[in-house]
Amino acid sequence: MSKIQMTTPLVEIDGDEMTRVLWRMIKDELILPFIDLKTEYYDLGLKMRDQTDDEVTKQAAEAIRKYGVGVKCATITPNPARVEEYQLHKMYKSPNGTLRAILDGTVFRAPILVKGIEPCVCNWKKPITIARHAYGDVYKNVEFRVPGKGEAKLVFTADDGTVTEKKIYDFEGEGVIQGVYNLDDSITSFAKSCFAYALTVRQDLWFATKDTISKTYDRVFKEIFEEVYEREYRDLFEEAGITYFYTLIDDAVARIMKSEGGIVWACKNYDGDVFSDMLSSAFGSLAMMTSVLVSPDGCYEYEAAHGTVQKHYYKHLAGEETSTNSVATIFAWSGALRKRGELNHLSELTDFADRLEAATIQTIESGIMTGDLIRITSHPNPKKVNSLEFIQAIRAKLEEG
Ligand code: NAP
Ligand code: MG
Repeated sequence: MSKIQMTTPLVEIDGDEMTRVLWRMIKDELILPFIDLKTEYYDLGLKMRDQTDDEVTKQAAEAIRKYGVGVKCATITPNPARVEEYQLHKMYKSPNGTLRAILDGTVFRAPILVKGIEPCVCNWKKPITIARHAYGDVYKNVEFRVPGKGEAKLVFTADDGTVTEKKIYDFEGEGVIQGVYNLDDSITSFAKSCFAYALTVRQDLWFATKDTISKTYDRVFKEIFEEVYEREYRDLFEEAGITYFYTLIDDAVARIMKSEGGIVWACKNYDGDVFSDMLSSAFGSLAMMTSVLVSPDGCYEYEAAHGTVQKHYYKHLAGEETSTNSVATIFAWSGALRKRGELNHLSELTDFADRLEAATIQTIESGIMTGDLIRITSHPNPKKVNSLEFIQAIRAKLEEG
């Protein structure tokens, strides 16, 4: 069988611990036998980040800018314990934070649905993807305790000296006060990434705020989304047969529970924080959740939503058998290969991505799964396999089909 050819490299970003072990297995068993793989490789393993003073992370982000598509393994975000463990020169920032800052992107998280791992909400038949605006609002707040009686004001002094001010409240006693902000540029980038992503997956886009209460702040979010939609996306959405739907956040929450899924749900920062955790737990498992960073100019970085699965890695190092779920990492690869195929008009590559995902889902639906899914499956006769056996079972399905 001749291998599938690629024309443009994929940016391959290696990572840490158990996911680094799975990465090698996935490449050896599921990618390299089928594709004449072209990648530009960046090693974001913690050792290499330390050796390069984290330059390698910036280079990886620049490479995604250049080629448009990357696939990333989970990486350690250093904390004091990791500094000690790896004898690091410093406590480097989160690699995902660095990538997101350079690509200016939005993260979309989507569950992978299989029969036998049912979502808690029984009418959810298709995935619901959450897009969280990861900038500003309460995450960049300034707040303090009001000690007692007095007047609180919101004051803005422009560079030319003009002062705008508004009373917040006349306090009669102790209380609390908080200032938050956001930027038109950031909201615009967020909106563009959401519209671009919804088009990519051909799903309706929902966005919600509380603009009936927050008549200026939230209204700006609503208006920017509308402007971007009318100016750049209305025609494209109509062509693709998808819609943009704006509503109030409480209405959105009520509707999501009654929907059958198949929606991209754009959320303000706090809403996204809260509802992404609700969704991933309601859909079953973090190990079945993919994540893609989409920049407003249309660059894509695919990864698993979970971390490096440290506990399993220590078992692996101790020579014990592991049963770590590689599905989200496999889907990161298939997502990236599909996008590469679409951008380069390589139907063989997009077909392969579809087949790889189908083989993965069929493997689980046939009852072969890793320990994390065994615990929650409704399959009558599941068989627990180890990390490598699971990947090999997918390979067998891929070769059958
Ligand atoms: P984690 O790696 O997501 O794992 C937490 C627990 O969830 C595991 O111990 C395991 O539970 C379960 N789990 C997660 N993924 C699994 C999988 N694929 N298969 C089976 N079980 C899975 O989170 P963590 O242990 O808190 O973080 C470890 C490292 O990952 C940290 O250094 C953190 O900085 C990093 N991290 C990176 C990213 C990223 O690169 N995007 C994201 C989050 C965290 P059991 O032990 O019960 O089996
Ligand atoms: Mg959260």
